[in-house]
Amino acid sequence: MTTSRRDAHDACEACGAPRLDGRSCDDDFHTLLGWEYERPAPRQQHHLLVLTYHLQHPHLYSPEGLAYARRMLADFLVGMSSAAARARAQGVLGSERRGWQLTGTPTSYGSYPSRPYYPLTVADVVDAGIDAAAEQVERWARATQAALDRMERAERIEDGR
Ligand SMILES: [Zn+2]
Repeated sequence: MTTSRRDAHDACEACGAPRLDGRSCDDDFHTLLGWEYERPAPRQQHHLLVLTYHLQHPHLYSPEGLAYARRMLADFLVGMSSAAARARAQGVLGSERRGWQLTGTPTSYGSYPSRPYYPLTVADVVDAGIDAAAEQVERWARATQAALDRMERAERIEDGR
C-alpha cells in the first residue's frame, strides 16, 4: 500500500480519530460489539463501550440523552451498579422530562461547545486487538471522562461561573 495510514484531512469530525485503512468509527464500534460475542471480558464492559462511543459522537444522542449518558459514565466509573446509575441519571433530567428520547434526530441532537481533545478513540481500542479490548475500553472510558471534565471546567471558567 502506498497511501498514508494517517491522513489528518480524513479524520472523524466528532472524535478526531484518523480513518485508518478506510475504517469509520462506526465500523470500529461494530468490531468491538462483535468481540463481545467472542470473549467474556469485553462483554463485561458493554455499558462502558456503548456510553463512551456515543459520548465521543454526541450527535447520536438527543440533548437529554447526552446529559443522561454523562451522568451514567461518571457513575459507572466509580463502580456504581447499572440500576443505581440509571436511576441517578434519570434524576438529572427531572420528572418534567418524562418521555424524552435517548437518540438524536437530524434536528435535535447532542453537541459540545467545541470538540474535546481525546487521547484515545475507538480506533485505538480496535488497534490494540481483541485480547486487550476489555482493558482498553476501560482506559478509553476514563480518558473520555477526563476530557469531558476538562471541557466542562474550561466552559465554567469562560462563563465566569
Ligand atoms: Zn469518531
